[in-house]
Amino acid sequence: MRVCILGSGLSSLTLAKALVNQSIYVDLFSQKKIDSQDKSRTIGISKSNIEFFNNSIMNIDKISWKLKKIEIFSDNLREEKLINFENNENQLFSIIKNQKLFECLEKSLSTEKYFKKINLVKNFDFLENYNLVINTDSTSPITKKYFSRKILKKYNSFAYTTIIQHEKIDNDVAVQIFTKLGPIAFLPISKKETSVVYSVYNKKNENINSLIEKYNFKYKIQKIDKINSFELKSLSLRSYYHNHILAFGDLIHKIHPLAGQGFNMTIRDIKVLLEIIISKYSLGLKVDSSVNYEFEKKLKHKNFIFSNGIDFIHEFFNFERKMNTSLLSKSVQLLNKNSKINKLFTKIADRGTLI
Ligand SMILES: Cc1cc2nc3c(=O)[nH]c(=O)nc-3n(C[C@H](O)[C@H](O)[C@H](O)COP(=O)(O)OP(=O)(O)OC[C@H]3O[C@@H](n4cnc5c(N)ncnc54)[C@H](O)[C@@H]3O)c2cc1C
Repeated sequence: MRVCILGSGLSSLTLAKALVNQSIYVDLFSQKKIDSQDKSRTIGISKSNIEFFNNSIMNIDKISWKLKKIEIFSDNLREEKLINFENNENQLFSIIKNQKLFECLEKSLSTEKYFKKINLVKNFDFLENYNLVINTDSTSPITKKYFSRKILKKYNSFAYTTIIQHEKIDNDVAVQIFTKLGPIAFLPISKKETSVVYSVYNKKNENINSLIEKYNFKYKIQKIDKINSFELKSLSLRSYYHNHILAFGDLIHKIHPLAGQGFNMTIRDIKVLLEIIISKYSLGLKVDSSVNYEFEKKLKHKNFIFSNGIDFIHEFFNFERKMNTSLLSKSVQLLNKNSKINKLFTKIADRGTLI
């Protein structure tokens, strides 16, 4: 059996590796020029997704930095934490540099006999040779042709990402502050490095370095690396597939980075897609467009609800920021003091669901 994947971002490489591990041939078509990742970007992966990654894709323990605690503050209520996610015996989340994950996946795939990387050509007639095509490439003509109907939201915000180099400390607690300009997250990646993601409302802001200094209350900063920025949007694709072509990764759901869940959603999607393919394959059934139908049926509504949940958190703090009140923060603080509710929040962040 041979599957075609379009695109060579994190989603496609991760899916390709998951498939070749099941002895399924993968032909991955990529555009030559953009085979790399932004060096300032990191991704937080939840505990259960790391376990799935290690068991079913590849072991990434060596490149991940484990976090035991996530503390959330608000500008309106600086003295006391809003929410505190904690797991003393085990990790809660792991932070990985996008570039490192990308390189590890590429290296591992390059030695696989089931894997072939092919330069994309302008004519897409070759897609007819495959029973199943998985498209992750947002810039592909196939995307414009079949996957343009979506629910799109522009946040009127920019995300700024960088890495700060600092003096050595025990660095296993992530901090997020809902500031008046938007949420800023400090995500440890080693004893001496912490990644920063600052999502700023309304306008392009030139003073990110000084804002990072303002909100940093933990690190003795030695250097702030180059700052990268890009516009923030969320989207949910209306139809996940067209005949034998399935859209995948950020192409089907893009969300605000405030909860660090975008790629986590894709890992959960890979788990489900893999289950569908393996069950058909082992029963000797055709792995074709019926996979796409089942995948959409199982996941579209769940992903839509989850994406809306993330958007709700964004709007909640945006409302508080606009109203200039600490009332909402205080109510979150109160809710979080209830240990059952705290466990509930932690479970959703880890598994994307309560089940
Ligand atoms: C600031 C920020 C922080 C984040 N933090 C987290 C986190 O902590 N945890 C988490 O789970 N998720 C996080 N995410 C989401 C995560 O980064 C994405 O879900 C993931 O990188 C998407 O990978 P992808 O392969 O689906 O898409 P892409 O990286 O967009 O790549 C898909 C394909 O599209 C094509 N493509 C894309 N852009 C171009 C272009 N400009 N030109 C040509 N071709 C292109 C390429 O072929 C590529 O192969 C974050 C996102 C942002 C913006």
